[in-house]
Amino acid sequence: MSARRHDTGRRRFLTGIAGGAGAVALLAGARPAAAFTVEPASGAAGAVLDGVLAEQRRHLAFRAEVRAEMVAQGATPDHIEQALALMDCPLCGARLDGASISALPAGERAVDGDPDAPARG
Ligand SMILES: [Zn+2]
Repeated sequence: MSARRHDTGRRRFLTGIAGGAGAVALLAGARPAAAFTVEPASGAAGAVLDGVLAEQRRHLAFRAEVRAEMVAQGATPDHIEQALALMDCPLCGARLDGASISALPAGERAVDGDPDAPARG
């Protein structure tokens, strides 16, 4: 008896899941396939993206300053990369490693002098 009651409860549970999934499918189908279009960021999201890009351009400039100074002191490229990977941005505190400029377009990253970055075209 208790096993049968358990089965009924389980069936109701599964039916509920199926109904929920169907409702989600209906909602998804009602909207155009906007998820697959690329639109420029605008409003608050655009402002955040602009802020990130501005900060990463500062990181690019900091990296260039450090690199120029260390090259002047005769540091090897490996030593420079190791130093950059341990330095923090004085403004936002982010590590000044390669990830600190990762949101910039490849053309901007190319001026970084990082041997892993794409060459300037
Ligand atoms: Zn920063």
